[in-house]
Amino acid sequence: RLREGRALAQDVWSIFNAANLPADCINLGQGYMNFAPPKWVTQGAEEALQSVAPNHYSHPKGRIRLREALSNFYSPRFGRKLDVDSEILVTSGQYSVFTAFLEQGDEVIMFEPFFDQYLPSVTFNGGKPVYVPLHPPSKDKAHPSSGDWTIDIKEVRAAITPRTKIIIVNTPHNPVGKVFTRKELEDIAAVAEEFNLLVMSDEVYDCLVFDNNEHVRIANLPGMWDRTVTVGSAGKAFAATGWRVGWLIGPPSILTPTLAATTRIVFCTNSPLQEAAACGLEQAEERKFFETQRDEYAERRAILTNVFDELGMVYSMPEGTYFVLLDISGVQFPEDYPFPPSVLGRGRDFRPCWFIALEVGVSTIPVSEFYCEEHANIGEAYARFAFCKDVDTLKRAADRLKNLK
Ligand code: GLN
Repeated sequence: RLREGRALAQDVWSIFNAANLPADCINLGQGYMNFAPPKWVTQGAEEALQSVAPNHYSHPKGRIRLREALSNFYSPRFGRKLDVDSEILVTSGQYSVFTAFLEQGDEVIMFEPFFDQYLPSVTFNGGKPVYVPLHPPSKDKAHPSSGDWTIDIKEVRAAITPRTKIIIVNTPHNPVGKVFTRKELEDIAAVAEEFNLLVMSDEVYDCLVFDNNEHVRIANLPGMWDRTVTVGSAGKAFAATGWRVGWLIGPPSILTPTLAATTRIVFCTNSPLQEAAACGLEQAEERKFFETQRDEYAERRAILTNVFDELGMVYSMPEGTYFVLLDISGVQFPEDYPFPPSVLGRGRDFRPCWFIALEVGVSTIPVSEFYCEEHANIGEAYARFAFCKDVDTLKRAADRLKNLK
């Protein structure tokens, strides 16, 4: 059963990988930056590489300097003093939470569209994904926001069975850019409490919330700390997606089994870059790094949304993340275009996305990949553009995108 569906099929990231596309194609596909992390952050790794201990295994919980930096940074954000020994775990991703908690046949609720990696995290660990829709904005809306993708809490309730164990929350949301409202999270929290569910809250884009939107942590809602594990990422925070340094924050009842799983899967996360992440967190506040970074991303977002406005194309203005969903259902392309088999064998939106990459020169990610096969048609209307690129690149992309229509 693990091999069912697309969990073991070629992933969308490697199909739309720069290596498969013409060299001059501008890559707004996979979400990674075309600029370096700040020097005052990478300096932490440079120093670590020159010394002995950080070149070797770290404690499976993570290097103490990073756990201390995380505790200092996040304690005020969680409104509690985070214990470095039992409430913080340095990891690479959310996978081990599912290894730790799922028994064969346990069900995991996720909102659709969902970040594609959740699916194998659930199925490889014997779980069964159960999908609840984020309802897309109404077609009459000329200027929708990511906030117009809405949940119906009745549908969450209806999805619960005696086997439901985990609910996945992702805010700010990849690929929609939605920042879940306090009310939405309170509704989800009430369901989690009533049915005794564990909440895996992926908040890796917490440093990228625009305008006056508020990032609410579901762990901070009354009664939720004990059943929530929150995921964070140095890759998103410090423009370093290849480091694979992330963290989990939650109660010992969740982190102790997750630590056991993490230890068996990778033993520990790579050490020298943990020092760099620590360096970043230690100085971020004083440098007002996250405020500046957010403003830079807001500027980058505007370069893309302005060109979509000029074209009169409909997109959901993202409240957070560095992704924007564009409605590409009107983009024309020749059916007999020489699409490679990796594109032909997938959702219909792989074709316009491939065509746009080759003919317009800008690569994106087809959104059907963030849906289960049964609902893929909903995603086929959209392409996801990543704007985590420097301003010049985005301006060049915007120029090319004028040929989209
Ligand atoms: N999180 C990144 C994105 O959504 C990359 C995902 C991945 O490579 N698995 O683009």
